Amino acid sequence: MYHNLSEKYTTKYPVLDGMDVDVYKRHTGEKIIEEIKQLALPLEGKELAHVNSTFEGGGVAEMLRSVIPFLKGLGLKSTWYCIEGGEDFFVLTKKFHNLIQGVIQNYSVQDILQLYIDNLKENFNNNPIVADLTVVHDPQPAAAIVHGEFMGKTLWRCHIDTSEADSLIWNFLLPYVNHYDGAIFTQKSFVKPGIRIPAYGISPCIDPISVKNSQYTRETALRVLDPLIKKYDIDIERPMILAVSRYDVHKNQPSIIRAFKELKKKEDIKKINPILVLVGNSASDDPEGQMMYQNIMNEVDSDPDIWPLLNIPNNDLNIGALMRIANHFVHVSTKEGFGLVVTEAMWQGCPVIGSNVGGIVQQVVNKQTGFLVEPMSVREITNYMHFLLNNKSQRDEMSRNAVEHIRHNFLIPNLIKKYLILMRYLTGVEDKVPYFRIR
Ligand code: UDP
Repeated sequence: MYHNLSEKYTTKYPVLDGMDVDVYKRHTGEKIIEEIKQLALPLEGKELAHVNSTFEGGGVAEMLRSVIPFLKGLGLKSTWYCIEGGEDFFVLTKKFHNLIQGVIQNYSVQDILQLYIDNLKENFNNNPIVADLTVVHDPQPAAAIVHGEFMGKTLWRCHIDTSEADSLIWNFLLPYVNHYDGAIFTQKSFVKPGIRIPAYGISPCIDPISVKNSQYTRETALRVLDPLIKKYDIDIERPMILAVSRYDVHKNQPSIIRAFKELKKKEDIKKINPILVLVGNSASDDPEGQMMYQNIMNEVDSDPDIWPLLNIPNNDLNIGALMRIANHFVHVSTKEGFGLVVTEAMWQGCPVIGSNVGGIVQQVVNKQTGFLVEPMSVREITNYMHFLLNNKSQRDEMSRNAVEHIRHNFLIPNLIKKYLILMRYLTGVEDKVPYFRIR
């Protein structure tokens, strides 16, 4: 059975019932909020549902926590359904995820038939989703379009980088995907041949009023961090290089660790004496997380200047505060659908050393808000770490640029606006093709 998470979040996040969207004006200015309200007027009372596979960990859950109350605040109905599955189901769908991102994995056709499809049938059996528009996120629930029942229009939202997807698995998913009324990709290069439905380009966004993205002063951030600093005995007086992400093969934390170890060999760095803090978690639909964390620990090899942390307490509060006080942020994934952590770090004023892959390229403006590097180029990463620690004025300018870049492009009202335009189009309120249609 799938869960209607709205109930759960009503108690956990009181704003889920709908919020006053005007509070966003402080961050975005009036114009876009007023535009959104106009777009929403004819949709009042209509329902936009979302289906995904985890309510904690990862970027999708992160965004839905904000999207649902925002839509409700505009007078729409909005629901969040989360499919259930056993460990074997999520092991299999994690393989899908990896295969779509181009990593070779073993899998059997029998697993696909028995585990994947049976599980979706079980979730959706006698549970039709009734909504004017339902957005189904990522491969885990994708086949529900055939094995479940949807009353209303449907969109498949793909959050991952499909550009080098394994052809077998992609060809397995493709007929399902083509059953939807449309698909949403983070960028045009992810739209593979074989997609016969309209495709739309939408970037993920962050919520500036969430706990994680509150922009503290440095003093407040340090106060917030006090229990964490004490718990892990972090030497906070030293300049911090920060990396935050799931412990996952594509996140490429080992390159960050190697680059940091190289950095420490530089003579002038000894005076600066930086630390590296790695923060990671493991999503409930990601069974590889623990194993990956162990690999990271081996790579760290008890280096006293590196803090590899797993599932930190008060996650959101502490992550935002760490990003606020770090000298810079490093995110060098080998594959990345978008990389919300990059958005979050930039919003907190961290210049980002990011890899030149997937959605990171949309965010990091090379030499203005950070630096773009080859993900496996330890030398480049080391050099830019060195630069950012040594050049305060350029570092601070990049910090300011980073905040403004996110403000103008990647705050949640931008995402809501596109959802509303799509909903107007698909439900017949508007016949103009959305300007962000990419295929
Ligand atoms: N995240 C977190 N705690 C952690 C690691 C990650 O809250 O220990 C959050 C992070 O802040 C971001 C999300 O998980 O909001 C990860 O999204 P992203 O798009 O970067 O990567 P994904 O995990 O979806 O591949």
